[in-house]
Amino acid sequence: METTCIVCPVGCKLKIEKINNEVVVSGNLCFRGANYGKTEFTNPTRIVTCSLVGKDIIYFTKTSIPIPKQQIFEIIDKIKKLPIKNYNIGDIIEKNILNTGADIIVTGYHDRQQI
Ligand code: SF4
Repeated sequence: METTCIVCPVGCKLKIEKINNEVVVSGNLCFRGANYGKTEFTNPTRIVTCSLVGKDIIYFTKTSIPIPKQQIFEIIDKIKKLPIKNYNIGDIIEKNILNTGADIIVTGYHDRQQI
């Protein structure tokens, strides 16, 4: 498979293939690209960011660790259904969401009454 490394802005074009039962990455300028390529090939993951929209406030959230790419939409659905409470930045609003090991953390908020 071919993909672009998203670890840094250089954006190396990676070629990832399985040779003799080993995942081999080429096109990377550094070891981080090799690690990214291997993970993309075997178990792609992403940090998920999502907003939680209430009547008077919007909270911005993210997962504490990268989660499997195939669970992104399921997790976004779950976050959007979480109860709106009075949260502060850094609060964990859901622990171990959908048994991924990731917590959902508040990263910011916007008071909608000031729009
Ligand atoms: S391989 Fe290294 S230099 Fe290239 S985009 Fe990835 S992190 Fe950046």
